[in-house]
Amino acid sequence: MTIKDNMKTEPNFIRIFDTTLRDGEQSPGCTMTGEEKMMMAQQLARLGVDTIEAGFAAASPGDFESVRDIGHTIKGPMVVSLARTRLDDIDQAAEALKGSPNWGIHTFIGSSPLHMKHKLNMTPDEVVAAAVKAVEHARRFTPRVEFSPEDATRAEPEFLVRLLSEVVRAGATVLNIPDTVGYTTPREMNTLIRRLINEVHQGDQVVFSVHCHNDLGLAVANSMAAVEAGARQVECTVNGIGERAGNASLEEFVMVLKTRHQVYGLETAIRTEHIYQSSRLLTQLTGMAVQANKAIVGANAFAHEAGIHQDGMLKNPLTYEIMTPESVGIKASNLVLGKHSGRHALAQRISQMGYELGSEELNRVFNSFKRLADLKKIVYDEDIEALINQNLAADNARFSLKSLLVTSGTHTTPTAAVELEVDGQTIRREAAGDGPVDAALNTIKAITGMDCRLTYYKVNSITGGTDAQGEVSVGVESHGMNVSGRGTDLDIVVASAKAFLNALNRLAWRQTHPRKSAIL
Ligand code: MN
Repeated sequence: MTIKDNMKTEPNFIRIFDTTLRDGEQSPGCTMTGEEKMMMAQQLARLGVDTIEAGFAAASPGDFESVRDIGHTIKGPMVVSLARTRLDDIDQAAEALKGSPNWGIHTFIGSSPLHMKHKLNMTPDEVVAAAVKAVEHARRFTPRVEFSPEDATRAEPEFLVRLLSEVVRAGATVLNIPDTVGYTTPREMNTLIRRLINEVHQGDQVVFSVHCHNDLGLAVANSMAAVEAGARQVECTVNGIGERAGNASLEEFVMVLKTRHQVYGLETAIRTEHIYQSSRLLTQLTGMAVQANKAIVGANAFAHEAGIHQDGMLKNPLTYEIMTPESVGIKASNLVLGKHSGRHALAQRISQMGYELGSEELNRVFNSFKRLADLKKIVYDEDIEALINQNLAADNARFSLKSLLVTSGTHTTPTAAVELEVDGQTIRREAAGDGPVDAALNTIKAITGMDCRLTYYKVNSITGGTDAQGEVSVGVESHGMNVSGRGTDLDIVVASAKAFLNALNRLAWRQTHPRKSAIL
């Protein structure tokens, strides 16, 4: 393999191209602000991904800024922006990233008969010409140019060979094969990748990549089939978030290679002990919860309920455990800190958990920690994590909760009195509801004047015990836009109010940052 883009190309090395911040973030309920994307990008760098797709710079000014900031801040991974084959898309991607230490451009165009005819209204010849022109244009800015024929798994293989050969001649160094609609099967994917490596011009000298969607639950299986056929990059997302049923899950793909190393003999640069924290951070930032039985990072992934399993586990963990929770960074909840712990102890624990906070941020987290420790005897890692994420996510919020008083009970109409800070001004109101949560949310809605409806509402406890913090997640919809929100507190009505405000802040941010849509 020729090294054309200075990225690692040992024969057994699989590059992890993370698209959590692009494909993941563009999916319903996963919207993040620029600041939240930056926090996630820093975590992805700690996790050890090779490439971060930071967004689609031409989608909106907000996306442009976020791609630019991530590119100029992140050290380690290559940072790329998605771009359609329109030359001004490529100009915007280059404009956002030029001057940053390690960057590239990822351009794409539809390649299936359906996409060419109905989405693009272009002939196959026109598609080839547009792709070549885009890749040549991108090469003027950077040697790292990835090309994707969108909807490749429903394209004519002969046409793919022709299109990809032309873009390699034009200078593309990575050829990514997207299963845009999650339609293909492992055997088909394996056959397609083998054929493309053999038939595309210099197919043995470029890196083949895949981007699989999970509509049939096959995204990780199809990614495995592709690497068995010789693909050396996989595009994936933390928690498998992404359009519709999502993308191939990073943690599942990486842990298959690690756990079954004897079968595949393939390596990634992922530091797997950071997987769990990456998953938790994403959940906190997007408000999008992970199902309990989700492989690797779900709450039950390492839980052994059945007596016979527990008995075996005690005698030898290998009886029912193919990988350890520690290998993905899951530690048993342990007593860490209490109300007598000082700032230094908290700072040390936070840094052990992998967070890097500035002194101002640490002060804010320490103050909330003291409040929590006064109310709750034992403060677990999960509690601290919730405090950190809540404090960091609160930056630049339009709406914040100043006070909340709710009256409810067996013989009274539930009523809430809420005081919010809205764009720096304090507003107070009271309203009734069908229950305490309904009353609180009604009052908040009246104060903010946001036109929206709640699509889901869920309460979990962060740790065990009746003094555990409640973690509330909500979904909110407004004019076809879906966002999620999350809040934690010892009081579940307060947690509900925080979660609702978190969603409303995200909605307000998204409404002032409209974007063009891309899909891939
Ligand atoms: Mn996609």
